Parts: sequence; C-alpha cells; structure tokens
Amino acid sequence: MNEITIVAASNNPKKLIEMTDILSLNGVNIISQAEAGITFSPDETGNTFEENARIKAEIIMKLCAMPTVADDSGLEVKALGGEPGVYSARYGGDKCANDKDRVELLLRNMHNKEQRDAKFVSCIACVFPNGDIITSRGEICGEISRFPRGNGGFGYDPIFFVPEYNATMAELSPAQKNKISHRAIALAAFRKKLIEYLNMIG
Ligand code: IMP
Repeated sequence: MNEITIVAASNNPKKLIEMTDILSLNGVNIISQAEAGITFSPDETGNTFEENARIKAEIIMKLCAMPTVADDSGLEVKALGGEPGVYSARYGGDKCANDKDRVELLLRNMHNKEQRDAKFVSCIACVFPNGDIITSRGEICGEISRFPRGNGGFGYDPIFFVPEYNATMAELSPAQKNKISHRAIALAAFRKKLIEYLNMIG
C-alpha cells in the first residue's frame, strides 16, 4: 500500500485529536486542515449528518486539492424528538456561547423527563480529488444524565451516560472513549474501506 496523506476537515482541536488517534495507521498520515493551510469552516447546510460530512469534505478537498475526510456528528435525544441532531454544535443559537451553555440548555429541556435515551451519531465522508468518495456511520446508545460529570472529551460528553461503563463519556479515558464512541465505530468502518480502496488503486 502506498503512503497517503489525508486532510481532516475540522477546526475543532478535540475532534481532530480523536480522528487522528483513531485513523492513523501504517501508510496513512492524517494532517489537520490548518496544517494544510485552510482555516475556512464550511456552512453545514445539509439536513442529515451524511450530507454535512460530504459538504465539509468536498469543500475542503477543493481548497487543498488533497484527499479530505470529514466527520459530522451530534447527539439525538429521544424525549426531544431527536434534537439537537444536526444542530448539536449550534443548539440554542446565539443564547449559547459554548459547550457548557449547550449542556445546561439540554439539561433544562430534559428537566422532569423520565425517558432519557439518547445516541451519539458520527458520519464520515472522505472525498478524493478524482471524485471518489468513501462514507461510513457509527452510533452509540446511552442516556442523558441528570448532572454533568467528568472532564474528558468535549461537547455533550459530561451528560452522556454509558450504562456498560457506569460512567459518562467525559469520565472515560481518551483510549476508552476512542474504543467505543460513535466516532470510533464510524472511523473503524471507514479505515477498513480505505485500506480496501488503497489496495485496489495500488
Ligand atoms: P459538528 O460535527 O462539527 O457539526 O459538531 C458536532 C457537535 O456535536 C459538537 O460540537 C458536539 O456538540 C456534538 N458532538 C459530536 N461528537 C461528540 C462527542 O464525541 N462528544 C460530545 N459531543 C459531541
């Protein structure tokens, strides 16, 4: 298999670390879009995680002319009809300045709700300059906790309780999170398809 460098289309430092940790394998070199000289953040105009992952990967690939992988991900809460979903990063609009505000808003919206089922979803799209595209999806089920716990991860990790580990995602070590998370599942599937693709093209 030839060496390949893939640009990771994200300006979220924590997401970039997770993508690089999970994806790096012999022959595959992951660099951030900033390292490729691109600071642009594409608007997420799609209605699904799949569409948004593809939009981000295509736009950044066109700007850097290198294979580009993007993750679009978010939290779906059953009692909120699947919200915040594709709006996870923008939940609460201007009223929420950061992850902590969004976590507090979600907990307020879940106040008095007994049904606490939720899932994290990650969709991956990798677009090549010749137009080829590889996609994958991963999900992890859990529950929205009553209070934030833990300092690891990012986003909604402190309120995403994983029953199998009796811990929130933010209480897991990075290695544990990167074994079980929605992003880990999606990237493992992507990695398999990428190896097949690279072997096919020689
Ligand atoms: P986007 O994929 O850049 O649109 O952002 C996804 C948003 O979903 C993040 O800003 C987080 O709020 C949330 N999210 C996605 N993945 C995770 C995760 O692994 N842990 C916690 N929150 C996440």
